[in-house]
Amino acid sequence: MPEQLEQDQSHRRSVLRALLWLTLGCGLIFAGLNVARGLYLLASLEVLYALFALCLLPVVATTRHLVAWTVAYLVPFFCIMVFALLLPNTSFTVFAWIQTIPIISYLLLGLRGGLWMSLCFITAAVVAFNVRYVTGEHALNGLIVTNLAFSSLAVMLFSHIYESSRVRNERRLIELAGTDNLTGIANRMRLNEEFQRLRSQAERSAMALSLVVLDLDFFKRVNDQYGHDVGDKALQHAATMLANRLRGSDLACRLGGEEFALLLLGADHAQAARLADQLRQQLYSAPLLVASGRSLQISFSGGVATLAQDGDDLSALLKVADRRMYEAKALGRNRIVAATALPPAVDGPN
Ligand code: GH3
Ligand code: MG
Ligand code: MG
Repeated sequence: MPEQLEQDQSHRRSVLRALLWLTLGCGLIFAGLNVARGLYLLASLEVLYALFALCLLPVVATTRHLVAWTVAYLVPFFCIMVFALLLPNTSFTVFAWIQTIPIISYLLLGLRGGLWMSLCFITAAVVAFNVRYVTGEHALNGLIVTNLAFSSLAVMLFSHIYESSRVRNERRLIELAGTDNLTGIANRMRLNEEFQRLRSQAERSAMALSLVVLDLDFFKRVNDQYGHDVGDKALQHAATMLANRLRGSDLACRLGGEEFALLLLGADHAQAARLADQLRQQLYSAPLLVASGRSLQISFSGGVATLAQDGDDLSALLKVADRRMYEAKALGRNRIVAATALPPAVDGPN
């Protein structure tokens, strides 16, 4: 499972690092060969590029601007490749390298960047081939250009299909890693991610952000009396109700066991406490129907904490909300505890 739920770029860093080492090795070897053949300009470009690759090696390990560095590296790289194709003394076999353009582009830049980079440089390379071998003094069969163009486009198509299914699978895994598999709502891992995002949003737009921790009351009894399966259904029932009542900008998550958390953007302390209390009343008045027509009334106790006034990070807010949730338990359960007192519960303790 990924530690962070955002798509990370570690595989792209590895591919770029491999390409830089390859450029360094091949650049120096080809520079030597080209000096021997009198192609001094090309040899100098290859040495310079090999040195550029060497300088980039430590940068790619840490940079936060990987895409920008990749483009800055690939554009001259492919330009040198096309330039080498155009020079009259280079070998015919240099064209084999065209096939690497789509693979490198898709692996390093993903779908959109890979598509544009491949289209531009495959076209440039095929035009270069055309200039040199079809209309030039060596006039070759047009079938060769067609073969070159279509084989490169075939590699591009396969790279495109591979990258789209990789991205789809990655998104699916990220989704699964952030989802609680019993209730289908967010899990603790997603809460960490969302908290970072919502805190930045709240700070940027001077909005309040509150956290509510909820724990179902006497849940052990539910399992003991009705069985574990009914206990699971009760957890799903509570989770669905919580998730359905919240706005799109809020988050309901299962922390584990019979404990849930709500992250409420734009709700100050009093508003969060009121909303939590409405949810409590709503769940309490919507019992779960179990076998033989019996109904199971579910209640929870909750504690509220608000960004800035109760802490600046998630663990501080969880601690305060958790402490208040235990105060609610001690006061008789089926209630919400906030920094300021709420009106007494209308439906009585569980
Ligand atoms: P309190 O009001 O003090 O919170 O009492 P409680 O019984 O809810 O708390 P306690 O911590 O004693 O028990 C929690 C119970 O939740 C025990 C465990 O069997 C049940 N539980 C935790 N996770 C699951 C789950 O995934 N499925 C089911 N069916 N039960 C669970
Ligand atoms: Mg409980
Ligand atoms: Mg508990």
